[in-house]
Amino acid sequence: MSGSNGTHEQAKPVHHKAHTPHTPRDSLTHSPKLGRLDPCNSLADFTLGVVLGHGSFGRVTLGKHKATKTVCAIKALSKAQIIKNQQVSHLRAERDILKIVDCHFIVKAQGFFHDEHCVYFVLECVNGGEFFRHLRSRGRLTEDQARFYAAEVLLAFQYFHSKEVVYRDLKPENILLDNKGHIKITDLGFCKVVPAAKRTYTLCGTPDYLAPEIILNKGHGKAVDWWAYGVLLYEFMAGYPPFFDSDVTNTYKKILGGRFTFPPHFSISSRDLIRKLLVADLSKRYGCLANGVDDIKNHPWFKGIDWAAADNLVNEPPIKPTVKSVDDVSNFDDYSSLPPILHDHVLSKTEQAMFTGF
Ligand code: AMP
Repeated sequence: MSGSNGTHEQAKPVHHKAHTPHTPRDSLTHSPKLGRLDPCNSLADFTLGVVLGHGSFGRVTLGKHKATKTVCAIKALSKAQIIKNQQVSHLRAERDILKIVDCHFIVKAQGFFHDEHCVYFVLECVNGGEFFRHLRSRGRLTEDQARFYAAEVLLAFQYFHSKEVVYRDLKPENILLDNKGHIKITDLGFCKVVPAAKRTYTLCGTPDYLAPEIILNKGHGKAVDWWAYGVLLYEFMAGYPPFFDSDVTNTYKKILGGRFTFPPHFSISSRDLIRKLLVADLSKRYGCLANGVDDIKNHPWFKGIDWAAADNLVNEPPIKPTVKSVDDVSNFDDYSSLPPILHDHVLSKTEQAMFTGF
C-alpha cells in the first residue's frame, strides 16, 4: 500500500483470535543515564538467566554482563520469524528509536548485536513486573491511582511525540514497573518516526486499542496514541477496555460506531476526559488540537497534578512492587520451561543480508 509520504509498507495481519479481558493481548502480529555496555558483541559477553517474558517474535531473558556485572534484559528476536512476518523494517525502526530514546519513562537500550539466529537488544532490566499483571490482580484502579500512572504515561508520550515518534501499541501489557513502582514503556516494535504533516498506513497495534482511522486505513499519525491513551484511562479505572468483545470483529464495529458506556463509579471529569480522547474526528480529539498535550494536562481530571513533580519522580507510586535485588524476577511469570537461547532454522545468505548493520 502506498502512503501519502510516498513510502510503501506491508500491512501486518490482524489477529482475529477470541480473547478475554484476563489474558494478555497479542499485538497485531528516575533511572541513572545508562551507558552502552562494552564489549557487547555476542551472547558470550553475558551470563544468561531465566526467561522474563516473550513477545510475538522472540523472548526476553535476564542477563548479566560479564565485564561490568550489569544486570540487563536481553530481547532476542528470531530472524526467521521477523522475515516470515515481514517485520524487518519495523525491527530497524525499533532499533533506531531505541538508540535515541532518553526518557526515564521509556526502557533504555544498552547495546545491540546479532548472530545467525537472532537480533539482540540489550535493555535495562525493569523488574517490578508488567503493569498488566498488577492491574489484573487488583481488578481496577481507583481514580487517584489511575491519575498517577496516567500522568507518567502522558509524559512518556509527550517525549515520544517530541521526537516525532508514534508508538502505536499502548496497552497495559507494554508498561513495566521499575523497582520503585514508576512506569517504563517497553516494546517499541511498532514505533515509527512520522513527521507532523505526514501519515503512515500500516495496520498495526492491538485490536482493543486501535483508533478508527487505523481500522479504516485512512492513514494515521500521532493522534492514534491519544485515542489509545483514552482506552488506557478507561481500562485503568474499569478493569477492561471500553470496546471489549470476545469477537474482534465486534470490537471493531464498536470502535467505529463509537459505542461505549461508563461503569457507574466513573467520575464526571474522568468521563469528560475519556470522551474527549475517544473521538473519531481528529479535529476534536484531545492531544491533537492547537494546544497539543496541554489540553489533556490542563483538563479538570488532572487538577492537582504537579507535572514537574511527576516528571522528577517525586511522588510515591501507589503500587510498590516487592523487589529484593537487581536480579529479583519474582514479579514475572514463571517461564522456567523455556530455554534462554532461541534457535530457529538457519537463514540463507540473502536472508542474512537483510540484517546487515544490526
Ligand atoms: P516485548 O517482546 O518487548 O513485549 O517483551 C515481552 C515481555 O518481556 C514483557 O511483557 C516483559 O514481561 C518482559 N520484558 C520486556 N522488556 C523487559 C525489560 N526491559 N526488563 C524486564 N522485563 C522485560
